[in-house]
Order: sequence, then C-alpha cells, then structure tokens
Amino acid sequence: MLKLSSLFVRTLREDPADAEVASHKLLVRAGYIRRVAPGIYTWLPLGLRVLRNVENIVREEMNRAGAQEVLFPALLPREPYEATNRWTEYGPTLFKLQDRKKNDMLLAPTHEEMFTLLVKDLYSSYKDLPLTLYQIQTKYRDEARPRAGVIRGREFVMKDAYSFDMDEAGLDESYNVMREAYQRVYKRLGLPFAIVSAMSGAMGGSRSEEFLFPTAIGEDTFVRSPGGYAANTEAVTTPMPEELDASGVPEAASVRTPGASTIASLVDVSNEVNPREDRPWTAADTLKSVVIVATHPDGEKELIVIAIPGDREVDMKRVEAALAPAEVTMADHEAFEPYPELVPGFLGPEVVGPQSERRAQQAEDERPVLRLLLDAHVARGSSWIVGGNSVDVHRYNVVYGRDFEADGAIEAAEVLAGDPAPDGSGALEIARGIEIGHIFQLGRKYAESLGLTVLDENGKTRVVTMGSYGIGVSRALASIAEHYHDDKGLIWPTNVAPAHVHVLATGKEDAVFEMAEKIAAELESAGIEVIYDDRRKMSAGVKFKDYELLGMPYGVVVGKGLKDGNVEIRTRATGESVNVPVDQAVASVVDLVKNDPAGVINA
Ligand code: ATP
Ligand code: MG
Repeated sequence: MLKLSSLFVRTLREDPADAEVASHKLLVRAGYIRRVAPGIYTWLPLGLRVLRNVENIVREEMNRAGAQEVLFPALLPREPYEATNRWTEYGPTLFKLQDRKKNDMLLAPTHEEMFTLLVKDLYSSYKDLPLTLYQIQTKYRDEARPRAGVIRGREFVMKDAYSFDMDEAGLDESYNVMREAYQRVYKRLGLPFAIVSAMSGAMGGSRSEEFLFPTAIGEDTFVRSPGGYAANTEAVTTPMPEELDASGVPEAASVRTPGASTIASLVDVSNEVNPREDRPWTAADTLKSVVIVATHPDGEKELIVIAIPGDREVDMKRVEAALAPAEVTMADHEAFEPYPELVPGFLGPEVVGPQSERRAQQAEDERPVLRLLLDAHVARGSSWIVGGNSVDVHRYNVVYGRDFEADGAIEAAEVLAGDPAPDGSGALEIARGIEIGHIFQLGRKYAESLGLTVLDENGKTRVVTMGSYGIGVSRALASIAEHYHDDKGLIWPTNVAPAHVHVLATGKEDAVFEMAEKIAAELESAGIEVIYDDRRKMSAGVKFKDYELLGMPYGVVVGKGLKDGNVEIRTRATGESVNVPVDQAVASVVDLVKNDPAGVINA
C-alpha cells in the first residue's frame, strides 16, 4: 500500500515554466517525472509504476504474439553501425562517445544492427526461422527539438521488435501478427489510434505503417476520409486527372507582365494586362515552376524543375518521399548557374521539357539533363499561364501535351482538406497526431549489409528478410496522460494507473484514520492497488486537490459521513460520488474496479 505520509512525491500547484502541453505540466505537477536536462527525465515512484504498467501490457502482447524478449546494452561499439553506414547517416542525432582507449562508441538510437548480428551469430538454417525477438529498452537520440516532456525525449523507453523470415510471404505473416498485437496493445492502454500508411504506393515494395494517436498537439500531420482511408500526407496519392480536350484553346502567346514574379502579382497583372472575358484569372490558372536540388545517396546532386498549379504550395516532405532515397532542398539561384535559360521568377516549362531545344543543347554541352516533373494534379490537355523564360514575360494558353511535355509526374503539391481520398472513400480531412508506433518491412537491407544468411532446404545460401516494429513506451504513457485529464489533474485508466483506488482520510478523529486504514488494507487483500492518504494535520481541501491531481480512477473518502456509518465512493473520470454504508465499501469498490470497461483485471 502506498501511504502518502511516506511516499516520495511532492505535488506542485504551479505549472513548470518550460511546459506547454497538458500531459507535460500534469506529469511534473503530480510528481510523476522530474526534468534533469532538456529531453531527459527521472521517473519518480508514481511515474515508474505507470511506466511499468505500460511496459507490461506491451510485454504481454509481444509474448502472446510469439515474440521472445531479450535485452541489449544501450552502449555499443561503432563497427556494426559503420557496416550499415548509419554511423554517418544518422547524423547529429546519434550520441557518440569514446572509451579510454579512444574506441568510438555510441548510445543506440535503435538496434537493427545488433539484432541482425545476434541472429547471424547463433542461427544458420531455414529450420531456425521464422523468429521474432524484442526488447523494452532505453534509447538515445540527440533530438534537435526535445519537446513536451517525455513525448519527444533524448533518452526514452522504446519497445523494438525484429522479425526474421526466409521469404516475402513469411515476412507478411510476421508483419500481420505484429500489426494485430499493436492494436491489442493500444486498446488495452486506452489510446485511440489511426493506422496510417507511411509510404506511397508509387514507391512500391515494402509495407510501412504508423500508429498515430490523434491529438491537436501532435507533430505529425495525416489525412483521413469518412470511408476509413488514413495515411501520412507523404503517402497520399492524387487520383489521375482526366485528359482534357484542348482543341478550342488558342495558340500560346507571350504577354509582357511587368513585376509579376510571384503568383499573387501574376494574377493581378494578368487581370489588368490580359483579362479573360468569362471570369477573372485566379491562381489556379497559373502553373508555377520551382527548382529543387535532389542529393542522391552517392552524393550526386541533381537539379530538377517541378511544375505545379499556382494555387497549391510545394510540400517538400512529399517531394522527398517521392524522390527517396534522395534528399531534397529548394535550389538557390547559384545552383541555376549552369542553366542560363532558367530565369528566376519567370521560369516556365516550355524550355525545360524533353521536347525543348534546350534539352538537345544540354546533351550537346554535356550538361546534366534538367528533368521536368509535373505535379500529379496537372491533366493532359489543360491550359496554363506559365513563365515566359525572360524577365517580365509570361505565356498564356500553354497546353500540356501540345506546347510542352514532361519527364514524369510527381506528388509534389500539398494535400488540402477536401481533396478526394485516393480510394474514393470521400473527402480528406487533415488531422494531427503523435506517432506512438511504427511497423515496417525492412526487407533484406540489414541482413545484406551485415551478412545474415541461412541455408535453405536445398543447402543454398539465402539472405534473411526482416521486419522492424517500434512502440514508444514512454511516449505512449505521456499520450495517455494527454488523452485522460481535466483541468484539475490526471485521470488514469485502470489498466495503467499507479493504483486503482485513492483512499482519503479527511478529519481529525482517530476513528476516521482507523476506518480508512482498515478499508485500504481490505481492498489490498482483495487484489486492489491502493494509495492511502494517511497524512495527519493536512486539510481535506489539500487532500481532495491531490486526489484530483494524482488521478487514480476511484476514490474512497472516509470523513464526515462516518458518524452516520457512510463513506463516499468517487469516480474520478465522471466526478460521480455515492455514499455507501461502511461495511459495503470494499465490495462496492472491488466491483467497480473489476467491472471497469478498461479494467486491468479483465484484460
Ligand atoms: P519521430 O518521427 O517521432 O521522430 P521516428 O519515426 O524517428 O519518430 P522510430 O524510429 O520509428 O521513430 O521509433 C519507434 C517509436 O519510438 C516511434 O513510433 C515513437 O513512438 C518512439 N519515439 C521515437 N523517437 C522518440 C523520442 N525522441 N522520444 C520518445 N519516443 C520516441
Ligand atoms: Mg517512425
């Protein structure tokens, strides 16, 4: 039994200065966590109890799914991460250090390498597979922006699991088993979740899905439709637009558009110098061309022109996903130098496309070919206002397929609320969420670079195929606090609460304390976890405030009513309160806890 007279906890009435989100404020104020440095926290007794409860739910579901628990060190040598190039690729996020002999070491941000090597070390035959291993362990990432307490920490607890299979069918099977297990985990944690595809279908190949807890304070943006489609914005595909009949579109013509170097000014100037008869020009009539630099994994930098409708912004995350594994940035004007035909502010597709004269010239000059990619919204046969490729000039009635061609299509434009879901399930809504889990078919990447092979039935050497499955354990805890609280404090679901019941003795008489202690002890014998506020000389007001802040799902108040033979039973979530005869108190509470819809005892 946790007695508040001796429990190592100090509740605070003031919010910590650095906290912005409710879960962070409340976890600190209620004495669950304590900050050591940015993104680095100590778990206090109550916080640790919740953390262990969350871990245990994850552990039970991993075990149920047939995964086996191991535990790796966090402190690791450089070599395995060198072999997969992650020593470099992980960049400044990797915590690196040296031992006394000047050997490079790291604090692991994730453990693909170690699991792969462990299986390689011990297994050699197809008979050993399939296999799924996991650990619940502390990870280190020097995040650029640690945030919201333990939601984005630099030290945090993750469950990471890895599956090992002979072939794609096996990997699919292992992946689906994990996917099911994840759904059970989040249900038991009481966390709502959306499963979103994390990679565009266009890239093909392996599956990757994220589990997001939908919340306005989330850093991730995703889309969902009324018909159940959900995806990361990076993964949303645009339905192929229908080809338009351009036979009635007049010939393309150049018009002087002084100062029209932005879309807004272009629309204004167009309505002035070259007005339409039927309606005014809008941004949707313009096609803007932007230049990006794609840096390929071999270090090669490629300049690419992307043309997109002027009423949408370029979404660089989507561009990067479409061009993966290249990394992308907007090109600065310096990058334009080898291509004097690119006139900043007045760039148009006609000089860039594969049919253009410049393309032939580029080949002659042995300049790298400048590709033109068209945003997926642009229909063949559609007509546009485009840059005239000389200062203060634009071209009107420029038709895709008639006046210019492209090297390909790209999902470059931002996704907007109301856009159609790619599967026809309705208009997209844009929502925010916190990534609480990620399941990912790695394929043979790690097994190949680290040489994990086994012999198949015919004695042939085969590279193993892998999956990787993460749950942010400490982040899930904070997400629960974010989802279950009110302005007075935390409201833990029974499954993860540090205790099920908070017994309060309010009053001065010994009889009150004796009865409260008796009820607390009897509850404990009945298998209910109890926090007992046994503090003498503490006002009832303070005790109630702490009860609300600490957030146990149920309260038992032994106080004024005792002289009439009653105690009060409170439900924290609803604020409900009922008086019951003292001798029925224990049975009533046991009943409440055991029949709790999210009860740990039911799980
Ligand atoms: P994010 O995009 O939020 O940085 P990630 O994609 O880098 O996360 P993964 O490498 O997929 O994360 O890690 C698996 C899980 O670990 C994530 O789904 C998330 O729940 C959790 N996680 C990742 N980074 C952190 C962090 N800095 N603090 C707490 N939990 C984290
Ligand atoms: Mg992820």
